[in-house]
Amino acid sequence: MIRVTVWNEFVHEREHEEIRAVYPDGIHNCIKEFLECDDIVVRTANLFEFEHGLTQEVLDNTDVLIWWGHMAHHLVSDEVVARVQKRIWEGMGLIVLHSGHHSKIFRTMLGTTCNLKWRDDDRERIWVVKPSHPIAQGIPEHFEIEKEEMYGEPFDIPTPEDVVFMGWFAGGEVFRSGVTYTRGNGRIFYFQPGHESNPVYRHPVVQQVIRNAVVWACPTKKYEISCPNFPSLEK
Ligand code: ZN
Repeated sequence: MIRVTVWNEFVHEREHEEIRAVYPDGIHNCIKEFLECDDIVVRTANLFEFEHGLTQEVLDNTDVLIWWGHMAHHLVSDEVVARVQKRIWEGMGLIVLHSGHHSKIFRTMLGTTCNLKWRDDDRERIWVVKPSHPIAQGIPEHFEIEKEEMYGEPFDIPTPEDVVFMGWFAGGEVFRSGVTYTRGNGRIFYFQPGHESNPVYRHPVVQQVIRNAVVWACPTKKYEISCPNFPSLEK
């Protein structure tokens, strides 16, 4: 059993009607819904809960933490960030999505600004550039997202251990859309898609990438994954 906590700052969906229309129950519940199965148990947490829902007890019972944030990075308490960092060093996996590139936890783990170029809606084609990587299993050679915010290079991150996906935008920009790191005992995956105004987390291939990443980032020795579309991975 893999224990996942999906953290979402949960500001856009509360404050902006047009975002609520895309994710009526919040981005976190959309992600929870497609991940949950017999082998994966998912809880959610958000900024407005006590200690942002990331108490020591919750983190001690989390194998993989998924992070989505955008407007309220500065409102996340340093104490909680330090607690999450310690759990990653101990072995908890971290998956950072989209605008989470500027979250305190991602910048803390990577030690750089994580700045990038961005522009509103564009069409994106994502290419698998490391097909042998566990996160790329079952993912087509390339797939398209009709409407996504453009994120472009230069992306100020340390040289990744693996670049699994490269994004190309119709405007011509390219981006390292899926990159991996290890910090202490913990595995970290950053995945670029997921701007809040488009239903990107309903895209079946995007969902598959996140599922694969959960299995890859899970610290425990071995999981038999019986859910459909899951690769069985020995670790
Ligand atoms: Zn965005």
